[in-house]
Amino acid sequence: MTSRCAALIPAAGLGARLVDRRSDAPAVPKAFRQLAGQSLLRRCAEMLVGLCDEVVVAVPDTHLDLARDDLVGLGSAVRVVAGGGDRQTSVACALAAAHSQAEVIVVHDAARPLAQPEVVRRVLDALDAGAQAVVPTQPVPDSLRWLGVDGQNTPIDRSSARAVQTPQGFRRTLLEQAHAAAGPDTGATDDATLVERLGVPVTLVDGDPLAFKITRPLDLLLAEAVLAAQR
Ligand code: C5P
Repeated sequence: MTSRCAALIPAAGLGARLVDRRSDAPAVPKAFRQLAGQSLLRRCAEMLVGLCDEVVVAVPDTHLDLARDDLVGLGSAVRVVAGGGDRQTSVACALAAAHSQAEVIVVHDAARPLAQPEVVRRVLDALDAGAQAVVPTQPVPDSLRWLGVDGQNTPIDRSSARAVQTPQGFRRTLLEQAHAAAGPDTGATDDATLVERLGVPVTLVDGDPLAFKITRPLDLLLAEAVLAAQR
């Protein structure tokens, strides 16, 4: 990769679905939850810092100092900014803070702390080969149904569906255009969705089974088990 690359980590979500309602422990934003002694955020930043020229992390504006403490030792290539009220805004905040010469942007959710460097390399290689927007995907193991607005439901052919992950990669100018054109409150859960609205095709690469998203308590248990099995 010859272009300068910035990795953005949207990490400003509160993680309401992860809260264990039986526990009295004070809730911390999801990115600060610990996994075998390291936060989800630090795991993501550590993985990306060796692959991109800089890493910009967007956290709740109430947690800027905590994030800086959490990321201590990773070097000056890692910076912390305040995110926003939804994921799209948090990515836009991090994108605005990326070095002006960064031509390639990798966006990776803090909620996917076990993603491996190989999937980032696949994304960067596809950009290097000329792709404008790159998305890692995985096959879906479950049978699927489409829910219609009329209350009907119909089966979907699982072999033609894919689960979408991060890290996603973009030419910077395209990602900036996509965010500028999107407007607020789009409900988009990833950046490729915004880019596609501009009519730009998205290139798919193989995702990473370990890049599963931590959303509910069960996902955290699974991630802990994966790390325990690696020790
Ligand atoms: O909520 P969900 O898990 O889908 O969020 C995906 C990613 O977007 C997470 O890493 C989360 O921290 C981030 N996010 C954010 N700002 C928000 C909401 C979510 O950076 N306001």
